[in-house]
Amino acid sequence: MLADRVAELCYSRYSQLPRQGKPRPGREWTLLAAFVVDRGGDDLEVAAMGTGTKCIGALQMSRTGEVLNDSHAEVIARRGFLRYLYHHLKLVHTAAGSPLLEYDTDTRLCSFKPGISIILFASHTPCGDASIVPMTCEKSDEVENTDTTDVSSYPESPVGGMPRKRKLLSDTTQIDSAKKMHHNETDSVSCVEKCEENVGSNMGSADIEQPDKVGSILNVATTTSSDVDIHRTGAKVVSGSDKQDPLSPGARYHAVGVLRRKPGRGQATLSFSCSDKLARWAVVGLQGALISHFLTCPVRIKTLVLGAGCPFCPRALHRALLGRTVHVTSLPEDYGPREICFLQSNLEFEHSQSQIKRMVLESGLHTWPCPAAISWVALPENSLEVSIRGNRQGATKKIAGTTPASCWASRAALFAEFKKLKNTLPDEQLPSTLRDGGCLLHTYYDYKMAAKAYQGAWQNVKEQAFQAWSNATRTFMEFE
Ligand SMILES: [Zn+2]
Repeated sequence: MLADRVAELCYSRYSQLPRQGKPRPGREWTLLAAFVVDRGGDDLEVAAMGTGTKCIGALQMSRTGEVLNDSHAEVIARRGFLRYLYHHLKLVHTAAGSPLLEYDTDTRLCSFKPGISIILFASHTPCGDASIVPMTCEKSDEVENTDTTDVSSYPESPVGGMPRKRKLLSDTTQIDSAKKMHHNETDSVSCVEKCEENVGSNMGSADIEQPDKVGSILNVATTTSSDVDIHRTGAKVVSGSDKQDPLSPGARYHAVGVLRRKPGRGQATLSFSCSDKLARWAVVGLQGALISHFLTCPVRIKTLVLGAGCPFCPRALHRALLGRTVHVTSLPEDYGPREICFLQSNLEFEHSQSQIKRMVLESGLHTWPCPAAISWVALPENSLEVSIRGNRQGATKKIAGTTPASCWASRAALFAEFKKLKNTLPDEQLPSTLRDGGCLLHTYYDYKMAAKAYQGAWQNVKEQAFQAWSNATRTFMEFE
């Protein structure tokens, strides 16, 4: 089963890491996330892994991009994945080449080699909207066909370079729905298993589009039966949202489908919940604006695998990660939401909150989240670092002009990677967005804005789906 193989691989990678940054045994817990490269068959590789549960307040943010604002596991893993991509963007121009990417001399852009897809593993349900799950919707729960048969017409999720195909939205939804319709709801195979069987295959693909029907998922998914209680999220609805949490007992505690900010230590943070970030990545890609300069198309998550012992509801995941942007129009080619296959593994993370709580059940000891974040990336050097409050552990204060405390995954460090890559490429290999007028670009902000297709897509998504999404103000992006 793919979900278990992915979880096992990630847990095994985690167990090989040194103790530094891991939770104190029996007292602390953490969250784990990893980006896994799937080359088909049994060829899976952990590209980047992260642990972490914390997020710093707005007042602690750095104007020079040297502090990690958001240290939730998914975000740490994604920053690591960007380092992994930079490494391969450099490798592709070497004699040996990259096993991940290929370079096209005509477009001067890179794309993923055929057959490669990206899996995100998370030991727990992403915080924010995806965590608002009816307690009746767990792993064995099936997507109800009456609600979702018409949620169709997302292009398949090519990681890059692969032929663009049209496919029904989610294997989970689609296969299950089709099955139920043909077997009069007697089939007991769960949507999860059906989804699994179809990962990487073209089964069930169809060349139909019903964009007018897609919106119905929003209405359906936001309706929760009032007598069923829900799992809750600590992330707070952003100010400026047209809906706020009613905070009524039971199922009416939360509003659903809204943008949320992560809780900090008693301080407001500017970081959006992982559900919101995942929804953004599902439309504009994981690679961000800077790396989009070098790629033919956005990098998508094809499969999301959750660990055992956490709420898992394909409907809620669908609503949170895909449903909120399905109606967005006028996107540049290759942008827009792509289906994600949602799976849950039977294997639980050894340092999950529920495991640790179970351990201390009899002693009654208090447990708390581990304050450190670990980043591990499949790189030949600087593959492991541990941070606390957004700075590399052991380097609490930056000494001017000497060893910087900033993490390799910080904005400043990633921007340095970007410039290094750009400067090593000869003019004739530079993408056009960096070649023409490239000399006018200086700051992190300049280079981000010069990624025209990416910015155009993101602007449309903000205007049409996430009006309350305010980007970090320009003062946090004007470093060189
Ligand atoms: Zn999170």
